[in-house]
Amino acid sequence: MNALRRLWSLFVPYRGWMLLGISVALITLLANIALMSTSAWFLTAMAAAGATGTAMNYFTPAALIRASAIIRTAGRYGERLINHEATFRLIARLRVWFYEHLEPLAPARLQRYHSGDLLSRIRADIDALDGLYVRVLVPVAVANMATLFFSFFLASFHPLLALSALVFWGVAGVGLPIWAERRGRIPGKRLAEDEGALRAAVVDGLQGLAELSVYGAAERQAKRIDGLSRQMITDQGRLASDQALTQAGVGLCAGLSLWVMLWIAVPLVEGGQIEPPVLALLALFIIASFEAVAPLPAAFQILGRTLAAARRLFAIVDAKPEVIDPPTPSPRPKRFDIRCQGLSFTYPGATEPALVGLDLEVPEGGRLAILGPTGSGKSTLFHLILRFWEPDAGTIAIGGDDIRLFQGDDLRRSIAVVSQHTHLFAANIRDNLLIANPNATQDQIESACRVAQIHDFIAALPEGYDTWVGETGVKLSGGQARRVAIARALLKDAPILLLDEPTEGLDAATERNLMQALDRLMAGRTVLLIAHRPAGLDWADKILVLDRGRVSAYGDRSVIPAAMQTVLSSDLV
Ligand code: ADP
Ligand code: MG
Repeated sequence: MNALRRLWSLFVPYRGWMLLGISVALITLLANIALMSTSAWFLTAMAAAGATGTAMNYFTPAALIRASAIIRTAGRYGERLINHEATFRLIARLRVWFYEHLEPLAPARLQRYHSGDLLSRIRADIDALDGLYVRVLVPVAVANMATLFFSFFLASFHPLLALSALVFWGVAGVGLPIWAERRGRIPGKRLAEDEGALRAAVVDGLQGLAELSVYGAAERQAKRIDGLSRQMITDQGRLASDQALTQAGVGLCAGLSLWVMLWIAVPLVEGGQIEPPVLALLALFIIASFEAVAPLPAAFQILGRTLAAARRLFAIVDAKPEVIDPPTPSPRPKRFDIRCQGLSFTYPGATEPALVGLDLEVPEGGRLAILGPTGSGKSTLFHLILRFWEPDAGTIAIGGDDIRLFQGDDLRRSIAVVSQHTHLFAANIRDNLLIANPNATQDQIESACRVAQIHDFIAALPEGYDTWVGETGVKLSGGQARRVAIARALLKDAPILLLDEPTEGLDAATERNLMQALDRLMAGRTVLLIAHRPAGLDWADKILVLDRGRVSAYGDRSVIPAAMQTVLSSDLV
């Protein structure tokens, strides 16, 4: 029940709205029951008066009926309006709340989750939470208050009437819900999980469709998706049939309750304790009163699903970020030199360290080339400088300030990165460039693209910078996407530049042009560039060669021993 309490705490700011929603729902229900029972009484009494030729006051009951009808109609409308308003406000806040917890987990913690699964949590699970309010809290509160009120009303005729109705309301509003909740627990939980798995499988299958087709695995993936969706349909079917059964159960309770009421009340009419028209009133009152408990079985079924969704969200919200921002404001470095001392790092779960006791120093405006075979820890060094991960030992300082003193955002503001895996958003080229600097002018964009050797290509496209690059940039080749990424880094205009194999995937001529252009760009900035081969490093002041996380050479170009050159070229080129 801990999840329920935590979930409730998220709803607390909307107490006012909820109270209003519950009141309007209660008034609407009472108006409906008043309408039904007063009409029954009125018709019977009028018929009896007509038969016996006596006069009766029909103005008051007619006014009451009219008022109830108007309140019921307006109430239904108001109830929907208020509850929707409250729900939308709530969901809007929940999404922000979830995103705020999700963001600090990126990228280190989030690598455990599949993007499709995260999407499912952000969308379906948060949507499921609103069920707690509209379909659980409101009906339960209304049912409790209404049945209390009904009991007093019935007891005013005879205590036995109240007692018998209470038994049937109890069966319909407590017994059936418990039954439905028990039966719905397993399929409900499985449904929430399968929904995540299904989304993950579909997203994966679509993104990797080319690979799946090439390796003839598309059929298998389709089978897996089919299996998951069949399981979901079975579970949904089971929940729906349980829901139908409980609805039938509520109807049965209403019928039985009516029958027992007549059995108690008919002798009272005969004994003159109850007027005959009141019997008609009681009959319709009993039937209508079950409207108060009818939503409860569904409410409990939804409660199970809502709590499962809440637990899945809390699991992410409670994950401790890999890196925690300091409580104090970031220092403002005056210089942008980088110094690493005794840096060691092992990825969680890895057996081998990715970096061991790394020392290095790049003065402001210095240019360091980093070489090393695949897996030697080059990109890891960048991840540590960007503070995506926390080193196990050692320190990194920028301008003499330990990077642990910086807020992550402030730190990353002074660093422009071209990472090894370029991510382009499903947007046009211009928007993909503008994320680096939303205020960049078209001239700035174009000159960055010229430096990155991509302007001519973009300008030749029929739609130029407005060309849509498609989902994850599939419309551009790897080399083109890389150059867009370089242009993006240029637009950011940061004092530190981290380039992870920027020329990988480019032909020799383009690589030469790009390196010449980058040379101009690097002027005045502190640059760390991971190169994939030892040739063409004239621009570098210093070279660092890594091997299995350790520094195997550090110094000027002459440090690259001939043997190392062969290792590097055979491994990387
Ligand atoms: P390089 O960039 O030199 O090719 P990396 O720094 O990417 O090498 O990787 C160094 C080692 O750390 C490799 O053994 C790699 O498998 C491992 N590694 C890299 N990234 C992760 C990660 N996110 N989680 C776990 N292990 C990782
Ligand atoms: Mg790498």
